[in-house]
Amino acid sequence: MGSGQVTSTSELYDFQGKHVTVAGLGVSGVPAAKVLHARGASVTVVNDGDDARAREQAAELEALGITVRLGDGATLPESTELIVTAPGWKPDKPLFLAAAEAGVPVWGDVELAWRLRGPDAAPWLAVTGTNGKTTTVQMLASILKAAGLRTAAVGNIGVSLLDVVLGDEEYDVLAVELSSYQLHWAPSLRAHSAAVLNLAPDHLDWHGSMEAYAKDKGRIYEGNRVACVYNVADKLTEDLVREADVEEGCRAIGFTLGSPAPSQLGVVDGILVDRAFVENRQKNAQELAEVSDIDPPAPHNIANALAAAALARAFGVPAQAVRDGLKAFRPDAHRIEHVADLDGVAYVDDSKATNTHAAEASLAAYESIVWIAGGLAKGATFEELVAKSAKRLRGAVLIGADRALIRDALARHAPEVPVVDLDRTDTGAMLQAVTEARRLAQPGDTVLLAPACASMDMFTNYNQRGDAFAAAVRGLEA
Ligand code: ADP
Repeated sequence: MGSGQVTSTSELYDFQGKHVTVAGLGVSGVPAAKVLHARGASVTVVNDGDDARAREQAAELEALGITVRLGDGATLPESTELIVTAPGWKPDKPLFLAAAEAGVPVWGDVELAWRLRGPDAAPWLAVTGTNGKTTTVQMLASILKAAGLRTAAVGNIGVSLLDVVLGDEEYDVLAVELSSYQLHWAPSLRAHSAAVLNLAPDHLDWHGSMEAYAKDKGRIYEGNRVACVYNVADKLTEDLVREADVEEGCRAIGFTLGSPAPSQLGVVDGILVDRAFVENRQKNAQELAEVSDIDPPAPHNIANALAAAALARAFGVPAQAVRDGLKAFRPDAHRIEHVADLDGVAYVDDSKATNTHAAEASLAAYESIVWIAGGLAKGATFEELVAKSAKRLRGAVLIGADRALIRDALARHAPEVPVVDLDRTDTGAMLQAVTEARRLAQPGDTVLLAPACASMDMFTNYNQRGDAFAAAVRGLEA
């Protein structure tokens, strides 16, 4: 961890008279164009698409005096001094290559919000990682609220940072979820403290390589003032802390499911303890909460709770508020959601496990599982997941377009596990999957929907997939 090379305040930017190109209409582009225009910039919006929705949005912006170019998101408008892009736009787009050549900076929605926040704006406690981001920022917001602080869970979680920064509501501190895309385009962001929960290959087609993905995630630590929180079990996250330039005095704080060393938070005899933010950490530890205070008390979720607690403690929150906040927290739907118990078998919906890293955490939380899996693999391989989880599998029921990949991995690493391969992708498939899973399950088992795949081959999204599972389970009960 280097220090001293960064300042905690971002550069002020005067938009008056600046030629700013906004890349992409849509949820972030339209409000960005409006605020830039209101701040005196000369704004041109470029957009790849030219459909009815785009035309409608273009008309709205043009009425304000903003130029919009539909059907051409590739050409850099002449005299552009700054690009503000939708976070999802890939860095290798011709527009950005032209910008790099011309020395034009590119900001995403988070960078714009960061630059527009007022001088007394609330500090940011930031969270990223391949999995667990949403859960962790929600836990963090719950803890901060329990401490009496005015806060909200914002960012990639679905609450626009631009809205929060420009809105009237006052905050003491923000719990900010950041995606790797957002971090890629946020060069001057400086959080109070930040956590990288874990790092597994994901979105590599966008970032280009695992190294580039990790580097973008690691930006979250740049300029941290109080704490860089990392996962002791995931060396890559610790490496990112080491590489970051932070403010003088900023500390590296680890979280672990084991017993914590000094400057770590961890677990001892079912109790979450803090050995980082205490007097004399060589000798002392502070009890924060019990594992049973966390819903659900699955290992990966305890890790999320520890990361949230570390950020809250870095902000000075007392131990009692950590306990109260974790107790009050309830996870969002489709994240290890207990649906029903039937004939001694638990039915659990983790439809949000859309990649193999998430499914691995989910499968590690139960002893004996009938696993419902499959969907769109997004280029993933299943060898490691199946090899690690094989001993827990009572059986598997496979659905979706890429189920053969999982079937092959099961045949190689768990040939004794019975597999039902459902060759259908219609809406009734989930009911059949649940019926087959019930047939395989024995009392004490868990039927777990943890697909390790995206849902769009059969469903609109993971919510609909989880709802279909729950409806099928309730159908069994009836
Ligand atoms: P994100 O916002 O990063 O997608 P969520 O909190 O919505 O994360 O959790 C998504 C899924 O990832 C969960 O349903 C669970 O299967 C898995 N998960 C959650 N936390 C972790 C973790 N710390 N490590 C691995 N997998 C996790």
